[in-house]
Amino acid sequence: MTEPKDATAHTVETQRRFREQSPMDWDDRTDHDNATRGFVAGPSSPTIAGPSGRPAWDLSAYAFLAGAEPPPTVNPSLWRQARLNMEAGLFTIADRIHQLRGFDLSEITLIEGDTGFIVIDPLVSIEPAAAAMALAREHLGDKPVTAVIYTHSHIDHFGGVKGVTTVDDVESGRCRVIAPVGMVEAAVSENVFAGTAMSRRAQFMYGATLDKGPRGQVDAGLGKTNSLGTVTFIPPTETITETGTVLTVDGIEIEFQLTPGTEAPAEMNFHFPQFRALCMAENCSHNLHNLYTPRGAQVRDALAWAKYMDESIVRWEGRVDLVFTSHHWPVWGAGESMAYLATQRDLYKFLHDQTLRHANHGLTMAECAEEVELPAEIAGQWCNRPYYGTVNHNVKAVYQRYLGWFSGNPAELHPLPPEPAAVKYVEYMGGAAAVLERARADFAAGEYRWVAEVLNRVVFAAGAAGSDPATAEARELLADTYEQLGYQAESGPWRNFYLVGAAELRHGGAAEGGAEAAALDLVMAVPVPMLLDALALRLDPGVCAGQRLALNLVFTDLRERHCLWVANSVLHHRNGVHLDDADATVTLTKPELLMAVGGLGVSEGITVEGDAGAVPRLAGWLDGFDPNFAIVTP
Ligand SMILES: [Zn+2]
Repeated sequence: MTEPKDATAHTVETQRRFREQSPMDWDDRTDHDNATRGFVAGPSSPTIAGPSGRPAWDLSAYAFLAGAEPPPTVNPSLWRQARLNMEAGLFTIADRIHQLRGFDLSEITLIEGDTGFIVIDPLVSIEPAAAAMALAREHLGDKPVTAVIYTHSHIDHFGGVKGVTTVDDVESGRCRVIAPVGMVEAAVSENVFAGTAMSRRAQFMYGATLDKGPRGQVDAGLGKTNSLGTVTFIPPTETITETGTVLTVDGIEIEFQLTPGTEAPAEMNFHFPQFRALCMAENCSHNLHNLYTPRGAQVRDALAWAKYMDESIVRWEGRVDLVFTSHHWPVWGAGESMAYLATQRDLYKFLHDQTLRHANHGLTMAECAEEVELPAEIAGQWCNRPYYGTVNHNVKAVYQRYLGWFSGNPAELHPLPPEPAAVKYVEYMGGAAAVLERARADFAAGEYRWVAEVLNRVVFAAGAAGSDPATAEARELLADTYEQLGYQAESGPWRNFYLVGAAELRHGGAAEGGAEAAALDLVMAVPVPMLLDALALRLDPGVCAGQRLALNLVFTDLRERHCLWVANSVLHHRNGVHLDDADATVTLTKPELLMAVGGLGVSEGITVEGDAGAVPRLAGWLDGFDPNFAIVTP
C-alpha cells in the first residue's frame, strides 16, 4: 500500500509563489491577537470521550500544528488558519460575554443573565457541549442554563443541546429555547431526501477518515472538524418571526434580525443593546463561506446574503463595539466591527454580480469560475480567504442558481455518461499506456488539474473490475495527482476531497469511521408526510412496474391517519384521509415507519387488517442504498 507522499518540487514552488503573490499582509497579527484575547483557561483535556469508545473530539491529534512555518504539504494560508483554529478554551470577550472555542467545529457563546447562562449554539454533539459547560462553570460559577438560542438550522448549532440542558428543564419552563422561524423544518428536512448521498460526500468534505497530519487532515476552515459524539435535538419553545422583535431573556435585552435564505434557510442575527455587542450567527466568519456546499446541497442566495448584511449595518451601526459569530474569533471596536460586516457583504455581492456579468457575456459555468477573481481590497482581507468555500465553486453556485447545469452548447446537452465516454476518450487517445506516458510528463511539469482530468478517464474506462497494469498505474498516478492538488489547496474541504480521493484510489473503497452518528431525536422530529416522501424515493420501478397497491395507515403513537398508494410506478400519499378501496389498513408507530424508510425491514409490531401480503409486497418494491458507493472509481 502506498502511504501519503511528500510535496513535489512543483508544489513546493507553487506554495512559495502563493505566499509571495497573495495580497494578504502575512505580518498582520490582528487575528492571532483576537483569537487569544480574553483567554481564561484551556480545556481540561484535549480529548473528549465519545459514545462508542472512539473519542468524540481529540485536539491532541493536531499537535503537529505547533510550528509556525508551514510544511510544503500544506498551503501556507490554510496552515495559518489551522493554527488559529487551535486556540481552544474559555475566553471572556466582554463583561458578561464568554466563548467556548475549540471544542467542536462550531463554538458556544455564553451570556451571563441575571440568574444563569444563556447558551448560544450548543455545538454538534453532547459530549463536547458538556465538557465546554463544565469548563465554564469551573471559572464562572455553577449557574443553571436559563435559555438556549439556536442561531440557525445547521446541526453544528443545535446537536449538542442535551449537553447543556435537559428536556425536563425545557418542558418545565426553566430553560427557554429560542430559534428563527422555520428552523425545525429546515433542520429536519435538510438530510432526509438526499441523505445517503450527502453523508457519503461529507466523508470527503470533512476528511473524517484521514489521519490528522501535514500529509492528512489539518483543518476544515470553519474549525478543526466535526465532533463525533451523540447528536440530539430539543425543538424550540419560542420562534422569532419578525425582524425588530425584542425579547428580554434572563434580564438581558436582545433585538433580532431574521436572515432567511442566507447561510442557512432559517437564520438570525441579534444585538445586545446593553453590551453594545452583535451576534452575526454564521452570516459572518473568518473565511469565505459556501454558496455551494461540496458535500451536496441546494445552492444559497449570494444576493440575499449581501442584502441582509447591509441591513445589519444599517440597523446597528453606531451601537456595536463587538461582533461575535458561531465559528472563529470575535472582532472588537466600532469601526472594525462595521468594516468586518462591510467586507464580508462585499465579498458575497462581488461573487454574485461578477458571475452574472460574465454569464451575460456568454461565458459558461466553468469559464465564469476561471474568470472571476476577487479584487485585492477584498481578497487581501484575511477574513475573506477561501478556507471553507472557494471563489471557484461559489461562482459556479451563482451560475447554477440562475442558469442551471446546462451551458447552452448542444454538445453538452446530451453527452455520454462518464464510463462510456471514458472508454471512447482513451480509445481515441491511443489506449491507456499512451495516455499514461503523456500524463507522467504532465505530472512532472506540475499540470495536476489536467492530469486528474485524463487519468480519471483511464480509471473509468477500465470499468469497476479494471485491474490490468496500466489501470493500476493510472490509479496510482491519479492518487499522487489528487494529493498534490490537496497539498496546494487553500480550502480545507478541497484539501480533504483530494486527499480522501487519493486514499480511496490507493486503498480501495470507503474507510471505516467516516459515518456520522445518526440523530434519533432529529429523525423522530421529521413529520410523517416527509417520511412517506422519503419512502417514495426508494420505489424501484424495475420491480413494481404495472402493479398497484393501496394502504391506509393508522399511527397509534401520533393519533394520525394517512394513506398511500402505488400506481404507474409512483408512490403517493395523503394526509388525514383513508381510501375506500385500500388493500389493507396498517396500524403502526412512527418508529416502525422510520425502520421501513431506513431500509431496516418491516417490524413485527405492525398489525395488518385486510390483505396480509400487501406490506411484504410493498417492502419488496423498495430499493436499498449503499452508504459507501464509489466516487473516484466507476
Ligand atoms: Zn456552523
